[in-house]
Amino acid sequence: MSSPSSLSTLAAALAEAASGEQVQSALNAAFPDGLSVPDAPAGQWESREVAAALVGAALARIEAQRESREAHLQLEPLHEETARLQERFDALFNAAPVGIAAGRRDGTLVRANDAYLHLLGFTREEFQAGAVNWVDLTPPEFAEVDRDALRRAIGEGRAVRYEKEMRHRSGERIAQEVTLLPQWEGAEAVGVAYVRDLRPERAAALGHALELRARGEELERLNAELTARSEALERFAELSRDLALERDPLVLVGRAQEIAVSLMPGSVCTYYEPQGRLWSLRSHRGEFRRPELLARLRLGLPRGESLNVDRPFETLAPYYQDAFDPATVQSAGSSISVIRTSASFPVRTGAQPRGVLVVGRHDQRAWTTAEKTLLETVVFNLQLALERAEQSGELQRRTLALERSNAELERFAFVAGHDLQEPLRSVTSFAQLLVKRFGAHQDDPRAAQYLKHIQGGTQRMQELIQELLNYARVTAETRPPTRQNTNAVTAAAVQDLRASLDAAGAVVTVFDLPPVVADSTQLRQLMQNLIGNAVKYRHADRAPVVTVTGEQRGPWVQIDVHDNGLGIAPEYHERIFTVFQRLHARDQYGGTGVGLTIARRIVERHGGQLWVSSDGVSDSTFHLTLPAAP
Ligand code: ADP
Repeated sequence: MSSPSSLSTLAAALAEAASGEQVQSALNAAFPDGLSVPDAPAGQWESREVAAALVGAALARIEAQRESREAHLQLEPLHEETARLQERFDALFNAAPVGIAAGRRDGTLVRANDAYLHLLGFTREEFQAGAVNWVDLTPPEFAEVDRDALRRAIGEGRAVRYEKEMRHRSGERIAQEVTLLPQWEGAEAVGVAYVRDLRPERAAALGHALELRARGEELERLNAELTARSEALERFAELSRDLALERDPLVLVGRAQEIAVSLMPGSVCTYYEPQGRLWSLRSHRGEFRRPELLARLRLGLPRGESLNVDRPFETLAPYYQDAFDPATVQSAGSSISVIRTSASFPVRTGAQPRGVLVVGRHDQRAWTTAEKTLLETVVFNLQLALERAEQSGELQRRTLALERSNAELERFAFVAGHDLQEPLRSVTSFAQLLVKRFGAHQDDPRAAQYLKHIQGGTQRMQELIQELLNYARVTAETRPPTRQNTNAVTAAAVQDLRASLDAAGAVVTVFDLPPVVADSTQLRQLMQNLIGNAVKYRHADRAPVVTVTGEQRGPWVQIDVHDNGLGIAPEYHERIFTVFQRLHARDQYGGTGVGLTIARRIVERHGGQLWVSSDGVSDSTFHLTLPAAP
């Protein structure tokens, strides 16, 4: 190669060469004879230097290209990673439950997540089209708050939290809490806002506040009711103290009226009872501002035409008139119009209504729950007081009647006993005389037989009278009970029975008995009756075995008398304690049927009890309780 034209061809080839091989082949084409330097003429030297420079430049470019390619290859994974991160960031950004947006001062948004757009009612497309401007969506009164927050966030380089409102695209105002962070995009500062919708919270708080208020009101109402109730009760406690012995219903009603009037100042209280075709005014309290009204009410109100009184009596429920209608007591005339509010209550004892209590007020106010409670409590307590009065009156009457008849009976038994004995004695002695004088001379043996019957009858009658007298004496002869050595008294009773016990071959065992408080004679008779019966009603097949045991139980001593006799069927366990009640024929077992009646009377006079338990065939136990001696 020697000419400049071939140099430019070489330059063009080298410019396109992309590898060392291509440089070599371009060189070979330009210098087919090779590059023998020593013998080259001067012109050719220049060409060679130029060619070398071109080759150097081409090689340097190829090298640079290779390096750049390699560098690019190394960066590729980094790019991919960055793209993945971006994707993940976008996903997170959009899925965040709070609205997030980055915006400029002029209101344009750089970024906004789905929650933010949703909060304001926009789609992503609208956002991308630039339709969302946060400044335009902020009501003017919050513009300054926003500016101030942005200033502080950028100036201080930290997050600022504040509350504001924005307008939804529909116009609805959205209260929100904003946390604003400064962020630099190159030289420009943007604000990144985290926006939380405060509406649900506020609604809940409002609901809560309303609920609290409602509850507070309810509590207040209950409290007033309670106070009213306890006030009324207190008054009634006074009333019952005053009137514990009061039995006149009208006095009780009058006191209830006084309480009602004192609890409702400025009111009058009337009480009516039905009398024929009228409501008769039985009692009243309070100051009547129109005396003629009271005079009119005193004449009575027609039943069936006085709703204010008729209604509670019929329905048995209170009747309240917040605005009293004079037509409901029409017959009272125009003077009734001074009453502006009224409340009427049925007053009953038991199921029966006996009257109606009416409270009238001179001022017009609706009845409050507390006032209703108060009055209803007054009426309720009045009813209790009336019932109690009725019952205690009835009880007293009955007790008196019982006591009287008891005393009469005892007196009768006692007198009858005494008075019967006298004629009986003479019958007995004349019968004896007859037997003695004429018995042997009688031709007719029946006469002797009849006389014997007379004797038996009179003897029996004497026994009965004696028992009756004994029975009457249990209460007639009263001595104050004293401490008794129960063992000693029982031993004496056993001694009294000695002859019959021996005759029956009875074994009587008395275990240690605690001391009691009793009348000694009566205690002795009691033990005698029980042990005597235990031996008398013995079983034909075995000798009687009687055990007496005792035990203290609290303030009582229980004594049990057990035998192995005939037993007593359950249906007779009560009946045997009735006077003259016997389970056995007299020819089989002698007796009058009074012994157990006396025994029970003695025990009951001491405050104790007497009862029997038995299997009904082979043994019986009589149980009794008497006050233990201290
Ligand atoms: P009386 O012994 O005079 O008949 P009571 O009043 O003592 O009268 O007894 C009433 C009845 O109770 C007796 O007739 C007898 O039938 C029955 N009875 C009393 N004690 C016993 C007893 N321990 N075992 C079986 N029956 C008895």
